[in-house]
Amino acid sequence: MKGLIFAALVVALSGAATAQAPLPFVLNQVGPGVYAAIDGPEHKAGSNAGFVIGDDGVLVVDAFFTQDAARALVAEIRRLTPKPIRYVVNTHYHADHTGGDQALRDAGAIIIAHRNVRGWVRTNNITLFGDRITPELKARIEALPLPDLVTDKDLTVWLGSRRVVLSTVLGHTGGDLTISVPDAKVLFAGDMLWRRIAPNLIDGSVKEWTATDAAFMRIPDAALTRYVPGHGDVADVNDVAEFRTYLLDLKRLVGEGRKAGLKDDALARNVAPKLRALHPDWTISDRAIAAEVRYMDQELAGTKKRPIPAAD
Ligand SMILES: [Zn+2]
Repeated sequence: MKGLIFAALVVALSGAATAQAPLPFVLNQVGPGVYAAIDGPEHKAGSNAGFVIGDDGVLVVDAFFTQDAARALVAEIRRLTPKPIRYVVNTHYHADHTGGDQALRDAGAIIIAHRNVRGWVRTNNITLFGDRITPELKARIEALPLPDLVTDKDLTVWLGSRRVVLSTVLGHTGGDLTISVPDAKVLFAGDMLWRRIAPNLIDGSVKEWTATDAAFMRIPDAALTRYVPGHGDVADVNDVAEFRTYLLDLKRLVGEGRKAGLKDDALARNVAPKLRALHPDWTISDRAIAAEVRYMDQELAGTKKRPIPAAD
């Protein structure tokens, strides 16, 4: 017993206790020096992230929801390479992807994002949580770091001789970037792709979104490409097609319900079992489906509100 307490004390003092805590994500190598960090089954990381190790540094994709999760990612990177962490690219402003940015900045990274993220990250994230916002979360959102380097055009980042291409894409928020590593045939799709999980449409346009996913299916070497989604496991081009079909099914079913005169809860109750029957192996919570139907209904009615870009 004494020995046990002593061992626990040594662990606590050496700081090894945190290193031994289970990771909130699963690291999955998707190419040479390219890793996806997939949110664990308890969803403690909040979303997926990843990183690319180049000749002279590391580029991280997204920062999870918490600084703790982001620090765990930094520790995993440090385990694999001594090269400096030079960049973190946020795929969009949502807090489940930007919440850990400060930990990446503390590790030396420059924060890169779409130009619209600066205007949205500290404000629209409060709306994102709706009635689930707490004073603590609100304060955390209002203190999120703003991106250092922004773009509204495609951007190439060179990690020595390794080319990483950031592309602006439409559909999810109006300020999304994808990150591709052509030499490894990996595309970090952010929330333009969800694998077998109902997506969050709060800021989205299904019309634009399905067009972007169609473009993902046409990239060179699509059949050989690993697509890293914002949520769900590492995907292939068939998963991209299935996700796009999910969005199109949602659109069609909501359209049919609207034609039958259904509204609000009645519309959601009509669509939910049909959508679930079409995608039986998907995780579709009651809350998610109610929100999806409402947002799809608004898009079809032409009343959907989307984030408005702020002036610099
Ligand atoms: Zn997300």
